[in-house]
Amino acid sequence: MIDFSKPKPILMQEQILDGIAKQVMRPISRKYDDLETTHEHPWEYTNAIWAGMQMMGFGGLTMQDDNEKMESNPKRPPLANQIIIHMIERLSYGDAGIYLCTPGGALGGAAVAAAGTPEQKKHFLARFSSGEPKWGAMAMTEPHAGSDTANIRTRATLSEDGKEWILNGEKIFVTGGRMAGQDSEGFILVWATVDPTLGRAGMKSFVVEANTPGMKVTKLEKKMGIRASDTAAILFDNCRIPFDNVLGDPDLATPEAIRANTSKAGFQGAMATFDATRPAVAASAVGIGNATLEFLKEFLAKQGVEIRYGVPYQKQSAIERDILRMEADLRAAWLLTLKAAWLMDQKLPNSLEASMCKVKAGEVVTWVTQKAVEIMGPEGYSTKHLIEKWMRDAKINDIFEGTGQVNRGVVARLILGYKSTELR
Ligand SMILES: Cc1cc2nc3c(=O)[nH]c(=O)nc-3n(C[C@H](O)[C@H](O)[C@H](O)COP(=O)(O)OP(=O)(O)OC[C@H]3O[C@@H](n4cnc5c(N)ncnc54)[C@H](O)[C@@H]3O)c2cc1C
Repeated sequence: MIDFSKPKPILMQEQILDGIAKQVMRPISRKYDDLETTHEHPWEYTNAIWAGMQMMGFGGLTMQDDNEKMESNPKRPPLANQIIIHMIERLSYGDAGIYLCTPGGALGGAAVAAAGTPEQKKHFLARFSSGEPKWGAMAMTEPHAGSDTANIRTRATLSEDGKEWILNGEKIFVTGGRMAGQDSEGFILVWATVDPTLGRAGMKSFVVEANTPGMKVTKLEKKMGIRASDTAAILFDNCRIPFDNVLGDPDLATPEAIRANTSKAGFQGAMATFDATRPAVAASAVGIGNATLEFLKEFLAKQGVEIRYGVPYQKQSAIERDILRMEADLRAAWLLTLKAAWLMDQKLPNSLEASMCKVKAGEVVTWVTQKAVEIMGPEGYSTKHLIEKWMRDAKINDIFEGTGQVNRGVVARLILGYKSTELR
């Protein structure tokens, strides 16, 4: 049976998160959006959400986390990812850049959850639940490889005694790279190739503990939006990590083993990670969209503009049409997002839904925020309100975790049954 009512754990967390969004995040939104202070860490938020998360009974935020950890009652349906999706929506409603400073495994943790062995999940993810806040991050993008992830050049070679991997290369645009790689006892999940001649089959992911010698944060980007979130360039210069820190069975990660079994398991791990993280991005987009719509409606109400629901299409004003379209589009994006998370909770394939919700939500939030600025006129463009900031924050949802175009390609291929070599 399909049930659209909100389960109790989600209702219970809503009040706490709404309070944090409105009382902690919004008042500091401008402070951490300022380009002068853009790389300061929003501890006001991190401390509040960390305390809130402990109270709500779960540690750091990691998509595709183990449902068993959160679900002690076997009669209760698995909800871990739906709970997290709701949490991301509300925190992004507060501030999407600051939300990205939520302690937890983030993309790095999601990759471990997607591609790690049960022992690796336990070992690498346990840290996020207690003690001081910690962060994870994922480094895939390189100066010459963004959407075309199969072209990454960061190289992983085995040490002579076979006990270590040695990483060399440069990663750019790593969300939370400084928090995860330098400022906490977290880790960076690095995608590298063990043999570039093998293409996708040669790709593997490696857990690099924070402050490992040979790994260095070389730059923090100054950006259009989500400025509270650090976006790092990271250099790997003969960075040595233990043999077991490659995700999946380490013995299957050597070039010889991969050549003997070209299963592309490494690359599939990347795709499984995106299946988990694309709904998270979509939820963040919906959160920004909901904040915008709410503010816009309040603004219009103060101007005496009433939105008449149920009025026939021919009789609607232009603004009413815009508002109704915003509401419908945001709801559609949200339902797609919930479905993608629900499928994850059921341990069912969700690649199609994950890309669909990401495409829809990324497009909707870009349109909704720009339209709101337009409708509000100079007031919308002014820094007096947060609308112009939300417009800048929104666009990233159409870029990271696969751009809108790339995800449309995924959707088309999955619906039509083409391989990526057949439909690019
Ligand atoms: C703020 C921020 C944070 C980020 N965080 C991370 C992170 O944590 N980890 C990480 O690894 N990366 C991260 N990224 C990188 C992000 O994932 C890439 O920017 C994105 O994948 C696009 O890659 P690219 O920038 O190289 O653009 P390109 O791949 O060069 O794309 C340029 C344009 O061409 C289009 N295009 C490319 N290929 C196709 C195709 N096959 N069909 C149709 N159109 C196509 C794209 O849609 C885009 O419009 C982040 C980026 C930003 C801006």
